[in-house]
Amino acid sequence: METRNVKVVKFGGSSLADAKQLLKAKAIIEAESERCYVVPSAPGKRFEGDIKVTDMLYECYRLASEGEDFSREFDLITERYNGIIGDLGLDLDLSPDFEKIKGAFLYHAGSDYAASRGEYLNGKIMAKLLDYDFIDAAKVIKFYDNGTFDAEKTNIILSDRLSRHERAVVPGFYGSMPNGTIKTFARGGSDVTGSIVARAVGASLYENWTDVSGFLMADPRLVKDPCSIDTITYQELRELSYMGAGVLHEDSIFPVRFAGIPINIKNTNDPSAPGTMIVPKAESFDSERVITGIAGKKGFSSLRIEKDKMNAEIGFGRKVLEAIEEEGITFEHLPSGIDTMSIVVSSDLTKKQRKKIINNISAACEPDYIAFEDGLALLAVVGRGMVSAKGTAARVFKAIAEADINIRMIDQGSSEISIIIGVDEKDLTKALNAIYKEFVK
Ligand code: ASP
Repeated sequence: METRNVKVVKFGGSSLADAKQLLKAKAIIEAESERCYVVPSAPGKRFEGDIKVTDMLYECYRLASEGEDFSREFDLITERYNGIIGDLGLDLDLSPDFEKIKGAFLYHAGSDYAASRGEYLNGKIMAKLLDYDFIDAAKVIKFYDNGTFDAEKTNIILSDRLSRHERAVVPGFYGSMPNGTIKTFARGGSDVTGSIVARAVGASLYENWTDVSGFLMADPRLVKDPCSIDTITYQELRELSYMGAGVLHEDSIFPVRFAGIPINIKNTNDPSAPGTMIVPKAESFDSERVITGIAGKKGFSSLRIEKDKMNAEIGFGRKVLEAIEEEGITFEHLPSGIDTMSIVVSSDLTKKQRKKIINNISAACEPDYIAFEDGLALLAVVGRGMVSAKGTAARVFKAIAEADINIRMIDQGSSEISIIIGVDEKDLTKALNAIYKEFVK
């Protein structure tokens, strides 16, 4: 698709938590005339311990749906919006909307409807503040009857609609089902709306404004003061997010990736910081660091199966995987040896069916040994540089060995951009720090 010289800018909840933050967003938008399409979240937390408007709406609706009095909770929400409007000095009266929403709560319009009003109302405020057109996401973001997102229908409707608006605000997080009821994405879903809008207008860039200056090379709760990442490819990001590194909603990658549009993660509180660029392809990499990032997650188990001459037995692997499939379980990794095979699964998933899985595999494959081994943490070392920089794996393993950590599993994806290592859960933080230190001097 042809790209246009327009940018889609999405602002997260903390970037729009109060009037002061909204003014920062306005200044950012007005600083570049290409920033034509704005996707706001609902107002987030203003301070530690504050409550996001989305959570206030869920709670308020819970009371309404249980037939309890929700007027106090509802008033707190209207006060939050009226406070913003007042502080901004806008000539905007949302009371007809508040009345309508309250009525819909009484008629049990659904918790998705309730939650979506956070973005809807904030979108109206943003549109007024910027003097942009307001487009209700229910009219342009479409879901199937089964609740999954209808990407193609949305793209047709949305591109057509936006081609008639030079500048517009499209609230994040929600759309509508074929029968008109409101449906939201998973929590944090305004990221997804931003991505969908970027694809629909063929944007040159999707800017995602948040409260951090981009992605960090490692989780700062586990590794002290990690460096930030300047450029990361979609593929690298997917590997890291899968292993628990978050900032961006996972589903928000697909629409822009499909259209080849880069995302720039930026900080509303520090707009001049370059942030992180997420790009379809990157020719170069940081030759000193080689790796792009590391991430790790606890809570895995390995189903270990041993049998003499396993390698010569046709259909062994299929039978094992069938037994797992029958229980509706997905697996993460499948490292294997000549006479051994391990299936790495999320521990929670298998809790109930363990006995059955073991019995089924025992009956079908008659292994010499089969058991679940728990307490496994996985960590991913990710970097496009690993494809060409020789010795990266050696450095990773040396760092882990020198930290006196036992490796329980190794798996290198065929794309060669990641190495997955399994260690005891108690060693995860130590392993992440050891690898980080090896690559970032
Ligand atoms: N307001 C929604 C949430 O809190 C969606 C978003 O902010 O992206 O999850």
